[in-house]
Amino acid sequence: MKRLTILGATGSIGTQTLEVIRREQENFELVAVSANNNSNKIIDIINEFAPLYAVLTEKKAYEEVRKYCLDNNLKCKILFGMEGLNTIASLQEVDIVVTSVVGMIGLVPTLKAIQAGKDIALANKETLVVGGELVISEAKKHNIKILPVDSEHGAIFQCLQGNKKSAVSKILLTASGGPFRGKRKEDLLEVTVDEALKHPRWNMGKKISIDSATLMNKGLEVIEAHWLFDVKYDDIQVLVHPQSIIHSMVEYRDGSIIAQLGSTDMKLPIQYALNYPNREQAVADRLNFYDMENLTFEKPDMDTFTALRLSYEAGKVGGTMPAILNAANEAAVELFLGKRIKFLEIGNILEECMNKFEVQQSYVLEDLLEIDSKVKKYVKDRF
Ligand code: NDP
Ligand code: MG
Repeated sequence: MKRLTILGATGSIGTQTLEVIRREQENFELVAVSANNNSNKIIDIINEFAPLYAVLTEKKAYEEVRKYCLDNNLKCKILFGMEGLNTIASLQEVDIVVTSVVGMIGLVPTLKAIQAGKDIALANKETLVVGGELVISEAKKHNIKILPVDSEHGAIFQCLQGNKKSAVSKILLTASGGPFRGKRKEDLLEVTVDEALKHPRWNMGKKISIDSATLMNKGLEVIEAHWLFDVKYDDIQVLVHPQSIIHSMVEYRDGSIIAQLGSTDMKLPIQYALNYPNREQAVADRLNFYDMENLTFEKPDMDTFTALRLSYEAGKVGGTMPAILNAANEAAVELFLGKRIKFLEIGNILEECMNKFEVQQSYVLEDLLEIDSKVKKYVKDRF
């Protein structure tokens, strides 16, 4: 029996993680959950799974859930804010922390979990982009596993099983291409928020959906792969594969390529991460090769989707540059979702912030938090 905390239990990944737990009640016990403000969904989770702790990071929602539990005599402890997140990330009675909050807000709780010796099922890629070096070195120090939930990284992780790391020649990171695949800059001048949110293959939270439309998501994933698998940036090749059947591949030095395939369902990588190294009965649909459309591959267009090019650049510069890139992106996506800037401005803001802010090659946690808020403030003040 593995005991779990889910940070961000009410989101797209959180909900699908609950679905896996529901199907494998004999394997998992839900100890703690968090949400930002979705009190209704947290109340549903408390009623169904009876976790010992729930955290809300928004005051009104926290009060609501606390009152509900008091009125109904429920023994779930309700905690508030970042302190609450840090508490449930490091509980003694927990084995694995699923990090499915969105944004670099997940960094500190993830570090707390690692320092408390918890394995991490990592969906929250921004954490690794911002603090990769710190997170990985803490993970090594505390001898914990980081199990990737992101479908591409879950695939790479599986393709690496049973092989020597030294024999890897490159990683082939697949990308659907997002809703604007094949478009040029001039086609994207007036795209709306709704158009950008319409992902052709995956149904996800708003932030990652916009990241998929700009290809920033793939850029974040390149940096995520660099840290998770200790591979040089030049050995990570992005491959647009619109059908999203191959979730990524690893090429070995003898030229053999190992791929992982599956339906486009996040429950598959979530289930593998939670059960690793075991495999359990499928919770996602199986692939049927007789029904399959052609599998196609293309080179990504980094002139139109500058976020991907900039991510490679930021990763190669290293130090606090990926944190600058990520902060600029989080702020820009929020502005775009609020209809305050146009779609193509997202890429411009990334480039501007990368040029404007000074990079620190070595850093501690406080430096990351400081640069994150500085960059976000700069972007917000500009619009
Ligand atoms: P969602 O927006 O659907 O969910 C985000 C979760 O985080 C919710 O539980 C939300 O609570 C909570 N949250 C939001 N803001 C805050 C905050 N300021 N403080 C604390 N908690 C907060 O996101 P996704 O599930 O789509 O994505 C989560 C992470 O997983 C992201 O890093 C994403 O890149 C990654 N990922 C997602 C995939 C997907 O298919 N969705 C695939 C691969 C990776 P509330 O509901 O109350 O707002
Ligand atoms: Mg992914």
